[in-house]
Amino acid sequence: MALVTMNEILPAARKEKRAIGAFNIANYETALAVLKAAEAEKSPVIIQVYMRLFNTDKAADLAGMLLRLAHRSNQPIALHLDHGENLDQVMVALRAGYTSVMLDCSRLPFKENAEATALAVRLAHAAGATAEGEIGHVAQGDETSLTSVDEAVAFAEATKVDALAVSIGTAHGYYKAEPKLDIQRCKDIADALPDLPLVLHGGSGTPLEAVRESIHCGIAKINIATEFMDTYLKSARAELEKLDGKFLPVDKFYDPVVDACAAHASRLIRFFAGK
Ligand SMILES: [Zn+2]
Repeated sequence: MALVTMNEILPAARKEKRAIGAFNIANYETALAVLKAAEAEKSPVIIQVYMRLFNTDKAADLAGMLLRLAHRSNQPIALHLDHGENLDQVMVALRAGYTSVMLDCSRLPFKENAEATALAVRLAHAAGATAEGEIGHVAQGDETSLTSVDEAVAFAEATKVDALAVSIGTAHGYYKAEPKLDIQRCKDIADALPDLPLVLHGGSGTPLEAVRESIHCGIAKINIATEFMDTYLKSARAELEKLDGKFLPVDKFYDPVVDACAAHASRLIRFFAGK
């Protein structure tokens, strides 16, 4: 029985200057790969599902399988709604059994963001779950807004989030040019919020040395979506080419794809743990 909330894994990670990998999954194979990696590395892990999948039955359907995986795992597994865009998605997640939610109102002005996030935090806590919020804005496209220390402190106080996503120079998706992380900013925020685990979004493709520095400066959760999904697609394409039109049952077809994704997640889990 190893289903946990973020509070059972992130504060300890922050204290010990390591980070927990939070991997976006979208089907059984990607979820299984994350579970295998957690067990191979003897590490907690966060399995997260992107908000778009909460607009259909996908996220609730996946929850049944994810709960089963978490319960049978010998490692602590948190199940998290990534970038929830409204309170309906938060409620769907909590009802379906996710142990953690993010409501992302980081595009809104401070006051609206803080009020909506505080509500999501209260809903999560009432359900025995944890919540992440974001202040400043990590780019989804070209837009970005770095997090200020004062805003981070005021936001944490107003919302009581369990983990805080900060904008320090990363962006979502693959980079066109190498990002420059504002490590000093990260350190200043962490110093002002000494017990709050900070979250790095846009982890895919960020130079590993900068990632390591950010972990030493308070980042305790690192979101990985794009590069992990890309490994899945590239591996599936390679297997399909090997098959060359012949038939193979899909479970067998996916076994090596799961292994490739698990190896990718393992590498990152080790690195985030400082190994
Ligand atoms: Zn993100």
